[in-house]
Amino acid sequence: MNIAKRKFDTLVIGAGGAGLRAALQLSAADVKVAVVSKVFPTRSHTVAAQGGMNAALGNVTADNWHWHMYDTVKGSDYLGDQDAIEYMCRAAPETVIELEHYGVPFSRLENGRIYQRPFGGQSQDFGGDQAARTCAAADRTGHAMLHSLYQQNIKAKTHFFDEFFAIDLLKNERGDILGALAIDIESNEKILIEAKTTLIATGGAGRLFRSNTNASINTGDGMAMALRAGIPLQDMEFFQFHPTGIAGKGMLITEGVRGEGGYLVNCDGERFMERYAPHAKDLASRDVVSRAIAIEIREGRGCGANKDHVLLKLDHLGSDVIKKRLPGIRDTSMTFLGIDPIEEAIPIFPTAHYTMGGIPSNRFGQVVVPVGTDAEEVIPGLYAAGEGACASVHGANRLGGSSLLDIVVFGRAAGNHIIDYLKANPHHKDLPEDCTVSILKRMERWEKNSAATTQLYTVPQLKAELQLVMEENCGVFRTQDVLEKGVNAVKAIKEKLTNAYISDYSSVFNTARIEALELENLVEIGLATVISALARKESRGAHSRMDFEKRDDVNWMKHSLYFMKDNRLTYKPVRTKAMTVATFPPKERVY
Ligand SMILES: Cc1cc2nc3c(=O)[nH]c(=O)nc-3n(C[C@H](O)[C@H](O)[C@H](O)COP(=O)(O)OP(=O)(O)OC[C@H]3O[C@@H](n4cnc5c(N)ncnc54)[C@H](O)[C@@H]3O)c2cc1C
Repeated sequence: MNIAKRKFDTLVIGAGGAGLRAALQLSAADVKVAVVSKVFPTRSHTVAAQGGMNAALGNVTADNWHWHMYDTVKGSDYLGDQDAIEYMCRAAPETVIELEHYGVPFSRLENGRIYQRPFGGQSQDFGGDQAARTCAAADRTGHAMLHSLYQQNIKAKTHFFDEFFAIDLLKNERGDILGALAIDIESNEKILIEAKTTLIATGGAGRLFRSNTNASINTGDGMAMALRAGIPLQDMEFFQFHPTGIAGKGMLITEGVRGEGGYLVNCDGERFMERYAPHAKDLASRDVVSRAIAIEIREGRGCGANKDHVLLKLDHLGSDVIKKRLPGIRDTSMTFLGIDPIEEAIPIFPTAHYTMGGIPSNRFGQVVVPVGTDAEEVIPGLYAAGEGACASVHGANRLGGSSLLDIVVFGRAAGNHIIDYLKANPHHKDLPEDCTVSILKRMERWEKNSAATTQLYTVPQLKAELQLVMEENCGVFRTQDVLEKGVNAVKAIKEKLTNAYISDYSSVFNTARIEALELENLVEIGLATVISALARKESRGAHSRMDFEKRDDVNWMKHSLYFMKDNRLTYKPVRTKAMTVATFPPKERVY
């Protein structure tokens, strides 16, 4: 098959905050960089981020990066790598100022400084009073960031392949990654993009669950590409359920609402978080608040005719605060519920939100894989950043406002490391003739199945089945039985996929083909998630086992690594040693 070829120094797969921040660093240093995105860059999911980005600027309350680091380690339930967390928290103020200089219109205080709101899990002085650390552009922070980063990339002459879908990574026999095979979604033409370095920045996999806050593009493609290339995924059992999704629909109501003074009530009008987190109340970390809501509903204190949700009250904040600080939330509530939060409380329920696990990476954005039983090594020239990566700054539970920070800090770090790598490795490696064979076979199977006369399963059918299985078997509370059922069910769906077809194949627009490839990716991520969850016999952060209720630091303070081949799991220790400061040793996590 004749496939068009292009060559670049760096291929960035993904044009969200992580991909664009890295690309900007590279283009500004005159690296020849291509960014491939399956949607137009400013439609990447970063655009949906609402509440803001954490940095210890100290504009509203006293603050410093060390307190920020403490909160992040505690928030991670001690599974975060402390060197990476230190690096991120120290870099945070500088990256916010950089963004401001790129044009991000942050909200302002009366004195002209950047506005900061309190978010969950933030404290002053290592667990003391609530801190206000989240820098916000009203409740449209991600939108502002993504557009500014895109404009800066245009100025820096980054090359974009808009609406191109990366199918798989290209490898040589040694396992070096040499770019990717992509498809132009509009024309169905394939293109082979050869690169000396590749950065995977494809975001999370929230579409794994039926009720979620994510866009339909969040299908974990980069993570699945890594799995197929033999790279494991780290800590996939830790999936964040955001406490305040719109009940029955899933859209996010930002934690910023509680940061501005909103709070949760049950059917008795009780502010129940006072019982679960006496100090931080509604601003406890997300795993704690999500569990509290699930317990209130399970014990019969839910609201509405079916007692299946709780209420988020913000009418007491007054219309001025809501219109100025939370305009997007008001809009969402009125559009999807017909409820104006200035007058009425919003019905909410925890909903799948954020993939804590991902492609194992270090604080330079390099992808790191295990060798033998105890050692690990980097894959030369391969990088990962953003929600699809696991630099392990979020551990078992991400704090709100930490992802926007993660994507710009590690996007920039990866860009810087790539610049140095390219100086030492200026030449392209040879691309094997047969490097696309297995990828093309996979594509051909879809064509064959779709042309066959006996057709069994459609893509939308299997996707709905997968999302339901994940919701019912790998949700907020987990047990051995339920997880075992989940593993078997996802394996059965994978089996069915070999007989799936795209209905009306010859006449459908290419997005149907793309959805089929995305489903293959989601199924692999689903397996990684539920198999890792079944194996971890403790409760930590977002992974809450009703049959192993306690955190077990003796046996489980370690990262899981899931390999696609034989669904194998291995483990590696948490990096408890920070870069320059003393380690925060694990202790009971109370808010
Ligand atoms: C509703 C909502 C609100 C949020 N609010 C906040 C907040 O206030 N603060 C905070 O810190 N975090 C927030 N988050 C989390 C945060 O927004 C995300 O984790 C973060 O933006 C992810 O950025 P990213 O660059 O890793 O990926 P994304 O922004 O998701 O971008 C992924 C990119 O990869 C591309 N891509 C994917 N697969 C392929 C493929 N196969 N081929 C080609 N391109 C591909 C996509 O086109 C896209 O360009 C929120 C999340 C949601 C869902």
